[in-house]
Amino acid sequence: MYVVGIDLGGTQVRAGLVDEKGRIVRREAMPTRAREGQEAVLNRIATLVRDVCADVPWNSIRAVALAVPGPVDPYTHTVRLAPNLAGWRDVPVGDLLSEKLGRPVLVGNDANLAALGEYRFGAGRGIDHLIYITVSTGVGGGIIVDGRLLLGHKGYAAEVGHHVVLANGPRCGCGNRGCLEALASGTAIAREARVAVAMGEETRLREMCEGDIWRIDARMVGEAARAGDDVAGRVMQRAGHYLGIGIVNLMHIFNPRRIILGGSVMKAGRLVTEPMWEAIRERAHTAYLEDFDIREASLGDDVGILGAAALALE
Ligand SMILES: [Zn+2]
Repeated sequence: MYVVGIDLGGTQVRAGLVDEKGRIVRREAMPTRAREGQEAVLNRIATLVRDVCADVPWNSIRAVALAVPGPVDPYTHTVRLAPNLAGWRDVPVGDLLSEKLGRPVLVGNDANLAALGEYRFGAGRGIDHLIYITVSTGVGGGIIVDGRLLLGHKGYAAEVGHHVVLANGPRCGCGNRGCLEALASGTAIAREARVAVAMGEETRLREMCEGDIWRIDARMVGEAARAGDDVAGRVMQRAGHYLGIGIVNLMHIFNPRRIILGGSVMKAGRLVTEPMWEAIRERAHTAYLEDFDIREASLGDDVGILGAAALALE
């Protein structure tokens, strides 16, 4: 018995044939080419699914699931809005693909499914109360409570990146102010560093970006901080601090046993995790720290495929 997990990205669609133990038996990928329109993309996904299943009997495929960036309705398997797919809006992907494939097709938000994937196959195995947070260009997450993925009334639960950690803080991409994403994401790190350079602060980032502040990204800030640059160090420290505050809020509301951190910003390591832990130790009530730990995500680039596979296996 197998399932197919699909990671539907803005530039690439990746599919994996996955067995019950979470082993990716075969994988295929193709460019998304969202501009060709919805129908063309769905047809190509159907072809990709058949390709990845070519070596096994079709009736051994139990279900297919897609991890989609952006809000989805996990109850009707509809993509509500996918900005990086040429503005897909209210697309019943589950029904449309199921018709083409003759198999159940499920849809989930990518960060939610990453939580499910880490729970089933990765750093959260056996941990029935866990929160997954990805800190990258944006901040997303998924919450497992009592061994189940928390969906919420309409399926929009666990938008951890848009809970406010600094009232009247910087403007977030969502229009609100002071969201975790506006303080701890790679985008926020780059923005803070650009401001510092533009304000004439003494930092090696000025040379690193060759005078063009728009070349500054979170990776460059991390590199400068590691080389001992005070301004870059302060920017990373601030991001880690607010990540810690966000985590304390989540601890007090959900009382997780484990938090799993993924995403490119976490590659900065201690530059982010030290101020993060400092904020947690300072602010979390001690009872919440008992048997509590924080781990790195373990599924890496396969998290999309395996998260979707975990949903298809449910
Ligand atoms: Zn926001």
